[in-house]
Order: sequence, then C-alpha cells, then structure tokens
Amino acid sequence: MSDIYNFCAGPAMLPAEVMQQAQAEFINWQGLGCSVMEISHRSKEFIAVAEQAEQDLRDLLSVPDHYSVLFAHGGGRGQFSAVPQNLAHAQQSAAYLVNGSWSEGAHKEGGKYLNAQVVGRSVVEQGLAYVPKIQAADVDQDFAFYHYCPNETVEGMEINWLPETGKVPLVADMSSCILSKQIDVSKFGLIYAGAQKNIGPSGLSVVIVRNDLLDQARDTTPSFMHYQTMAKFQSMYNTPPTYAWYLAGLVFKWLKAKGGVAAMEKINAQKAAHLYKCIDNSDFYLNHIHPDYRSRMNVVFHLANPELDALFISESEKAGLRALKGHRIVGGMRASIYNAMPFEGLVALTEFMNEFVRRHG
Ligand SMILES: *Cc1c(COP(=O)(O)O)cnc(C)c1O
Repeated sequence: MSDIYNFCAGPAMLPAEVMQQAQAEFINWQGLGCSVMEISHRSKEFIAVAEQAEQDLRDLLSVPDHYSVLFAHGGGRGQFSAVPQNLAHAQQSAAYLVNGSWSEGAHKEGGKYLNAQVVGRSVVEQGLAYVPKIQAADVDQDFAFYHYCPNETVEGMEINWLPETGKVPLVADMSSCILSKQIDVSKFGLIYAGAQKNIGPSGLSVVIVRNDLLDQARDTTPSFMHYQTMAKFQSMYNTPPTYAWYLAGLVFKWLKAKGGVAAMEKINAQKAAHLYKCIDNSDFYLNHIHPDYRSRMNVVFHLANPELDALFISESEKAGLRALKGHRIVGGMRASIYNAMPFEGLVALTEFMNEFVRRHG
C-alpha cells in the first residue's frame, strides 16, 4: 500500500497520518465504546469536536472575527445554488468570471436564481490560456456579488491575483485550492469549498462569510442552506455531516502540526515546480496554460502523441501511480497534488515520466 501514490482529483487522498488516526479510533472513540459517527451532534463530545474544528480552521486562515464559518451539506455545487439565493434577490444581477468548467457551472446555476452575467473570461494566445485582469471599472457597482474560481480543477488553471471589484462582494469557489496557500480572507465577501480535495470527505462544504452578508436571502431560500439560519444554529439546523466534520478537524490539526498554511504553500510550490520542470524538459509532454496561470494543485499535461495515452495510463497504474487520466472534457493527463500528496509522490511520478520517454520517445 505504502508505495501507491493517488493523484485523484477528488475525492482525493487524505494524509496517511489522519487516516491512521481515524482507523485507530473508528470503533471506540475517546473511550465512549462507539464511533464518533454514532453519537448525537448535540452531545457535548461532538460539540467539542465541531468547535475545535472551526477554531483550527479560523487559526489556519486567520479568519477575522466579523466572518462566520459554516459547515454545510451539499459539496461545492450546493454553494452554486446557495450563493445566489443568499446574496441576491431574483431581480438583481451578479457577475461571474468564466475560465473553466467549474466557474461555468456556477454561472449556469446562478442563472436560475438571478440575472447572471459573464464579466471576464479566459483567453488563449499563442496556444497558452490565461485570464485578463479584472479592474473595478469592469464591474458594475450594482452587482450583488462577483463570483470566480481561483483554481479551475479540470483545466489546471490558477489565478494568482484578486479581481478588483470595488464595493461588490467578491465570492470565491476555493474547492480545490483552500488551505494550499495563504490568503487574506478580509478581501472576500464569501469563500466556499467542497471538502473532498483539500479538507476531508465529500458531501461537506465549508463556507466563510462576512457577517453583513449573512442575512440578505430571499424568502424562498431553503432553510438548510440559509446562511443566517445556519449561523444561528452553529451549522446544526439540520443534522450536519458529523463524520466528515470530525475528519476535517483531524486534517486541520494535521495541517497545524505541519506548520500551517505558510508551510504548505512552500511545499506545494516545490511540488508543482518539480512536475512542471519535468514537463517542460521534454517535447514529449505538453502543457497549454500560461506559466503565470499554471495550477499548483492540478497539473494537466498532454502527451505530444495521444496514441500513447492508454499505454501511459496502464503503465503508470502498474507503477503504483493512481488516477492520472485527465478529465474527459480536457483529455490527456492530470496529476492532482493537494496538500496531502508528499513530495516523494512527485519524485515517483517524474521518474516514471522520464523513464516512459526513454522507452517510447
Ligand atoms: C470539485 C469541485 C466542485 C464540485 O464539488 P461537488 O462537491 O462535487 O459539488 C466545485 N468547484 C470546484 C472548483 C471543484 O474543484
């Protein structure tokens, strides 16, 4: 098992230490004689888990006091629906930057609930994709919010600047980049992330929302996704995904022990640089993202000869490198290298890639 590296985009690998701890306390948690998933979410034991997880996340991201942290059902896409229903009325307009599959999905879903306009798109110049910067002058100050996705998981494109939106609240889908690098939460109106890439098991999502945006919802917003209601009930208006919340808490503790987000940022930069260097060193592998926009979490690459794709996949699987097949709409390969992926995984992958070139190049 230990020499398998799992590059799945999501649900993604979790830190080995976290999985071992979860296994050790699976049946008999804290001496209670049952699992943490078998106790009431209202018990003092679980509330302690929930509060600690929130505090650790707040510490990791230095979340200011005037922001609420919610643990929600429904993953990333749940928030595609929750954000427009919480932050705007049906007659209002909101802006969406569209530079890949997920931001496009968010824009499409938003259109069910309000006037969703595209303000900003990715472009391709000389074969390389990037996103022209967004200035406040581009953004109508009447928009209810400006939504973007800083890391497009499928295309492997990361935006390293903040859209300038003036007074319009900036909303970010950080599903695949949260906790991978330092951010200034105070620049955002709302941040959300489905858990299954960098936080924990799927189904859970984390929402960090500025308190003045909590209570802007229309009357028809379902209560279980209504931010004000969720905040009032400490994310326990309905039964929360307790086991996922507990596991997220273990991941936050693991991150703190590793030196927090600053330490992760450093390692993640080294991991990504190692793989991109391998891609750039040979004409055998190609990457079509502008160097300033290459994702450090999802490295997408193509074989110059796509007829070798199937062989690359089967040989890499045999070499213990799991799930490198790219998303069906992009093709090629994708290595997802979230926080839990150790540097050794990148060494194993690049050794395999270089060896594959020697044999088939
Ligand atoms: C995975 C992902 C989602 C979707 O998450 P679900 O939990 O499947 O709804 C949304 N946005 C981004 C950026 C993602 O990577």
